[in-house]
This record gives sequence, C-alpha cells and structure tokens, in this order.
Amino acid sequence: MRRLTHYDYWTDKLKPSILEESKADLLIYGMGEKPLSELVKLLEKGISFESIKTIPQTVYIINEELIPENKNWENFELFSHDECIKDKIKYVKNFKIIEEESNRYQSTKRLIQKVGQKSIIVNPPFELFSEKEMDAIYNLPFTRLPHPKYAKKESIPAYEMIRHSITLHRGCFGACSFCTISAHQGKFISSRSEKSVLKEVEQVTNMSDFKGYISDLGGPSANMYKMQGIDIEQCKTCKRASCLHPAICKNLSTDPKPLTKIYKQTHKHQKVKKAFVGSGIRYDLFMHKLNNPDYADYADELIKNHVSGRLKVAPEHTSEDVLKIMRKPDLGMFHEFKKLFDKINRKHQLNQQLVPYFISSHPGCKNIHMAELAVETKMMDFKLEQVQDFTPTPMTLATVMYYSGINPYTMEKISVARSKDEKLSQRKFFFWYKNEFKNNIISELRKAKREDLIDKLFGKITQKIHHKNKRRKR
Ligand code: SF4
Repeated sequence: MRRLTHYDYWTDKLKPSILEESKADLLIYGMGEKPLSELVKLLEKGISFESIKTIPQTVYIINEELIPENKNWENFELFSHDECIKDKIKYVKNFKIIEEESNRYQSTKRLIQKVGQKSIIVNPPFELFSEKEMDAIYNLPFTRLPHPKYAKKESIPAYEMIRHSITLHRGCFGACSFCTISAHQGKFISSRSEKSVLKEVEQVTNMSDFKGYISDLGGPSANMYKMQGIDIEQCKTCKRASCLHPAICKNLSTDPKPLTKIYKQTHKHQKVKKAFVGSGIRYDLFMHKLNNPDYADYADELIKNHVSGRLKVAPEHTSEDVLKIMRKPDLGMFHEFKKLFDKINRKHQLNQQLVPYFISSHPGCKNIHMAELAVETKMMDFKLEQVQDFTPTPMTLATVMYYSGINPYTMEKISVARSKDEKLSQRKFFFWYKNEFKNNIISELRKAKREDLIDKLFGKITQKIHHKNKRRKR
C-alpha cells in the first residue's frame, strides 16, 4: 500500500514510495504468488535483480531519466512526489488514477512517479486468478501452523482465529472508502472450486486439535463467492470503483446458490458441529432480492446454521451524508436486515445477536452526524461495543480525504476531525448512555438547536436536568 506517494499517519506527512526509503531492489504488491514465482524463475536463470523490469505487479526504482520501453504497457506519469508535497490537489488527482487502475479488470497502464531525480515504476497487476490457479494455490502443502519462531509462545490470538478457518475467494467489489482490500486483492473475485473448498474442510476436520467448529467460511466480504459481472465484456471496460455503490450494478450477478451449497455441504459433514461465517457479510447482496427463493434460502441458511451466536455486520454509520462518502448502503437496508435477522431467529427459536460495527471521525462526519447515530442505534436497542475512530491507512479514498480535506471524485471540500479532541468529541456519542458524557452532549445539542435529539436520547430526564440547571442559576 506504500508503493507510491502515500500519507503516513504516524509521522502525519506524505511519504514517497517505500522503495525510496527502504532501498529494496524490488517490491511485489497485492497477492504475491504470481509475481514471486516469476521472479524466482528469472533469478534461477541467473538474471540479475537490476535487469528484472517486466514482471507484472512489481515496482522498481530507476536512477536514470530514461524510462525503459515496454510494448505491452502504456506509460502514465503521475504528479511527482515533490509536486504532491507542495500541492495537495496533485496528490488527490493522483489517487483517482491509482484507484481506477487498481480496480480495472485488466490494467495496461504502467504508473510512473518521479521522486527527486529517480523514478518509481509500478507495473500493472497480473490478470485475475482462474479457478484452477486458485485451487492450485490452496492445494499447496501448507502446515497450518504458525512460523517456528513463535514456537515458545503459548497462544497467538490471530492464529487462534484462523487455524480452523477456510478462505473461499479473494477480492472485493464493495470499495468502501476506508478499506484497502481492492487496492490489494483487486475488485474482481477469484474463487476456489467447491471441490477444493470441501477438500480443505476435510483437512481441517482431520486436524488433531479440531473440536468440530470451523471458525470461518469466508473471504474479504464473506458472501461474494463466485460473484461476477453477467457480461464480462462490460466489466472489462468498467471504471467504477464499486459494483455496489451508489446502487447495485445491473450487470452484477449476485447469485448466492454456489455459496449456499458450500454452507450446506459443510454443515452436513459428520465431524462439523458448526461452520461459522466470521468474515463480515454484505447484506445488500441478498436483501435486494429476498423475494427470490435462492436469496431467501441463503439468508435462512446463514442465520440458522452459520452464526456463532453473534453476527458481525458493518453498517459503519447511520447518516446518509456520511454513508455516501463511505460508499456504504443506506441505513434503511440495515433496518430491513435487522428485521430479517430477528424473524429468522424467531422462526428457528434462536437467540442470536447482531453486532454492528461503526466508525467515528470518518472524513465528512461531524458531531451532529454522531448524535444522529446515537439516536438511531438507541432506537434499534443497540448498546454499541464494536466501534472505532477512523485511522488513516495508506492508499485509501478516506485517507486521501483525511489528509487533503478534498473528495477526489467531486473535488469538493470535506470536513475532517483531525485533532485528538475533535476525535474524542465524536467518539463520546457512541457512549451517550454513560453519565460522564450526558451533560456535555446535552449542551452541545442545545447549542446546535437539536433539542429533538436530546429528547430522543434522554427523554424526560433532560427536562429534569434543564430545570435543575435553571434553579442553580437562580
Ligand atoms: S460493469 Fe458492473 S459488475 Fe462489471 S465491474 Fe462494472 S460495476 Fe461491476
């Protein structure tokens, strides 16, 4: 994610490509299997690092002015690192090109960026993995064990989470503004075959420490398995960052049948007590077609048999303005999903919980949006626990907006909560029910003339505080 000029949160400044600072010979970005095997082949032939310049999905740095020719790729020169530092707009314009190219079905643009007298050359990515290639990768003899250097550690939390989990696919076409997945794995989905997935289910059930629970049948977004454009030719020329935002593309097939089949087959396995879906799901992928029995069947199977008691979903916000900037579906969809979740739970006499994730201080989010979020989530009976302040990571749309205060797609200014105080001030609305925040929230909403929100949050108690304060003043 640091292959070109990027914002570094820890130093609060723009940094050049990591190649410039690290002095590495070559950088491989994205999922490394293909570029790495190409690289090894060439090195084995005795070709030197310095002359390896044609492997897709690699980045290198050259000292000389002359950019090496390549007949398969078209060069595109971005604004230089120095120009980006001097002018935020140039950094913003660069991002739009970089995002568009990482989201293409097959980019042929070689991105070039000057850093001082040198040039960073980013070769376009490899083509999408085929099902056969995906199966070959997952067929490798992985030990499913942590690296031996952790041998003395009693437990590794991240490993506990993944040791009995299974990846079904790669890529994500959601393009949430704060997420790096599409820049890393691409927008298009590469899926494994059902046979390969079920073979891994078998392997996991044979592990000596397997107790009957698969922790995740997932992917970056759990329910995008085998999803793709109906007419791939249209996808090949498409520049949209997201297939889901602002509305689900008519050319996108959201058929859940292949995934439902894997869920059901795994559930039926005699050594599996439960196979959970631990990765986040995109409920908009089935909520829009629930009148179709295949979609309803998927939702039923997911909620009935694959929730570990708590299903994680990520509405991320409730305000329409903020959701639009985040490229997330509107809140109405979440309300509908909650109704469906509760209905299926009642139908199967289950007592499962929905755990929504929310973010504060995302670019474009103001305190009043957070107050609305507090009211909305109170009305839905949620006491929030999975919340986070937005943290900028390199190469995301949200980070570009955070640094520049500009939306690259509209070039409009956008408000950003940057200081610690501004962030805490937004965060307190998640915990509106705690006494320590109450008076502060009330006085802030009064100043904003939003007594309606005070009443919705604190009801009659507000009146009491109001009268008490009046008495004190007298
Ligand atoms: S055409 Fe539609 S389905 Fe295909 S990539 Fe573009 S937005 Fe996605």
